[in-house]
Amino acid sequence: MHPSRPIPLAEPVLHGNEAEYVAQCLESGWITSGEFVPRLENSLCELLGTRQAVATSSGTAALHVALIVCGVKPGDLVIVSDLSFIAPANAVRYMGADPVFCDADPETWQIDPNVILRFLDDRAEIRPEGTVDRLTGRRFGAIVPVDALGHPVDMDAITEIGRRFGLPIVSDASESLGARYKGQPIGSKPTMTCLSFNGNKVVTAGGGGALVTASEALATEARYLCNQAKDDPVAYVHKKVGYNYRLSNIHAAIGCAQLERLAQHVAAKRAIAERYRDAFLNLDGVTFMPEAEWAGATYWLSTILLEGDRSTELLRALHKAQVEARPLWEPLHRSEAHFAAEYVGVGHSQSIARRSVSLPSSVDLSAEDQERVIEITRRVATS
Ligand SMILES: *Cc1c(COP(=O)(O)O)cnc(C)c1O
Repeated sequence: MHPSRPIPLAEPVLHGNEAEYVAQCLESGWITSGEFVPRLENSLCELLGTRQAVATSSGTAALHVALIVCGVKPGDLVIVSDLSFIAPANAVRYMGADPVFCDADPETWQIDPNVILRFLDDRAEIRPEGTVDRLTGRRFGAIVPVDALGHPVDMDAITEIGRRFGLPIVSDASESLGARYKGQPIGSKPTMTCLSFNGNKVVTAGGGGALVTASEALATEARYLCNQAKDDPVAYVHKKVGYNYRLSNIHAAIGCAQLERLAQHVAAKRAIAERYRDAFLNLDGVTFMPEAEWAGATYWLSTILLEGDRSTELLRALHKAQVEARPLWEPLHRSEAHFAAEYVGVGHSQSIARRSVSLPSSVDLSAEDQERVIEITRRVATS
């Protein structure tokens, strides 16, 4: 029998300056606003090679505000990755807009630029009021590609489509902070890039998010909206409906300490992925997640595909052994929350999701614990 010490899926690792920075907040009394917020924003600019960053209370808030400042309007259609966590689709709905879910490319598991291109070629018409759907007369508002599992999307192809159809790109990089695209950090090409510092992400602030952009105008407007659209430093003057989407100084303090470790966290995740990949290389019926030659993924969660019903069996076996594992998200076009949305694809995202198991991928996962996960997987796959 194996020892049954529980193994979590993705646990925060807080071995840096987190406690010291939080103590500084508490001692100074600066817990809500304070110097760690701009410090976090500056670190992000430095790490990503972008000019502007705005910290937010969550990744979902970042997506919501990014869609507003990028000009998405009620009634718009917004192209979103079908194989994704639900947050970007929800943010589109907060706008009174509707998502159009585009299928994944089986080669990368990411939104397929060719699917977007064929869809827009077929349906979009560029008119004075914007890019309009010939079929419904509705405006297209934006493209929201998601770097699922921390693997970057093919951003050159997507930004080219955005240019051609006059659509802003709001990238959901919640899982890919620290990833590389064609050798460069993700985050500099899209109109806006949204990040999350939720507890299970590559780095965390306990909760929180950020958006980064090269545009000072967009960043200024986003900051204004996140701060209740405050128009006067003293009096309560508000010309727009704003949001309370600021990140607290305590959260930013944790985030600053975590960002100091971003490179180590990504290296650790990549090492875990490599061990899984090697272990399953010659195992029939197990496929390890892909990485395009132009991609440097964060491997936020190492994920495999199994044949037939084996993924369900494996999830059950791991659960029984107190190993936390998860299937990928139900493709968004299958979600009851977004049942009315259009779907463009041939079922690749569903075929991937149905066979998937995300395995424990914590930054501090021990080789011993990983070996336990590998053994159970081998046993189920070969039974
Ligand atoms: C985690 C995540 C989010 C949401 O981030 P929160 O900070 O939890 O709001 C959005 N999109 C994706 C793809 C995510 O993985």
